[in-house]
Amino acid sequence: RAKSEGRAMFRFFEPQMSERLEARRHLELDLRQALQTNEFHLVFQPQVASADLGLAGFEALIRWNHAFRGAVPPADFIPLAEETGLIRTLGEWVLVEACAEAARWSDSIQVAVNLSPIQFKDRSLVATVRRALAESGLRPGRLELEITEAVLLQRDDVTIAMLHELRALGVRIAMDDFGVGYSSLSYLRSFPFDKIKIDRSFVGDLGQSRDNVAIVRAMADLGASLGIETTAEGVETEDQLAIVRGCGCTHVQGYLVSPPRPAAELPALIASLAAGRRAG
Ligand code: C2E
Ligand code: MG
Ligand code: MG
Ligand code: MG
Repeated sequence: RAKSEGRAMFRFFEPQMSERLEARRHLELDLRQALQTNEFHLVFQPQVASADLGLAGFEALIRWNHAFRGAVPPADFIPLAEETGLIRTLGEWVLVEACAEAARWSDSIQVAVNLSPIQFKDRSLVATVRRALAESGLRPGRLELEITEAVLLQRDDVTIAMLHELRALGVRIAMDDFGVGYSSLSYLRSFPFDKIKIDRSFVGDLGQSRDNVAIVRAMADLGASLGIETTAEGVETEDQLAIVRGCGCTHVQGYLVSPPRPAAELPALIASLAAGRRAG
């Protein structure tokens, strides 16, 4: 019985499955094409000090504007780029582009770049970062690399060694999406991060959940004990800002301050953040 049911299910799902595979294959071809024709650009979202909303830096986030598909969100193409290995080329482009852009800003403003676990499979990542710094002339201390727990999942010595090599270049290392993985705390032991970014799922319903407030406070305390920065991601309301500030998060990032903006809009954004800070 189970066998025939299994076969019936297979027949039922088969057309859908092949359609999905087909769609995926098309997206992959488009992605390869997009790398050739420069369909990507970066947008930048401010990270500000929670105390006075002073600008600390920008996180670079990739955008893909496809001729027919329109804007394809990173959540839709980053996983595919990772599966196909295209993330190596794409990630290198992001590093070079983000450093070049940041080199145009004032020397006090940092840039944060997301790195995929797949990029750590390539020992040349360290050389790529060195090259991005050298070509742009960006002071290494102004570059922050954001990694997720997935990078440390295998916890292999090579990954940790690469993180130390990157740190030796003078760049900062941040742990992104902190708190949503399986053993966040143990990852903190494997490498001395410069910053914890508290995942926005904790920040999103701070107003409704006293538990989340307690958890955010615990994470901010942890950061303080370790002597590192804690950024609350996804701050959308004044209430959330007040709460994460009260919890002791050193920095905030989110739509309340600004959504990610294209490079051309940054001078105006930087000016308005500076003005807001004076007014505030
Ligand atoms: P992430 O690194 O955690 O980036 C933060 C995400 O939260 C961004 O989504 C940002 O637009 C969004 N966000 C910021 N403030 C708010 C807010 O107040 N409310 C809400 N609801 N969302 C907010 P985005 O740009 O769609 O990127 C999604 C993810 O894709 C990133 O998460 C990161 O994991 C990945 N990603 C983006 N760019 C790159 C890249 O250049 N390389 C790699 N490897 N991954 C990237
Ligand atoms: Mg990030
Ligand atoms: Mg994040
Ligand atoms: Mg994320």
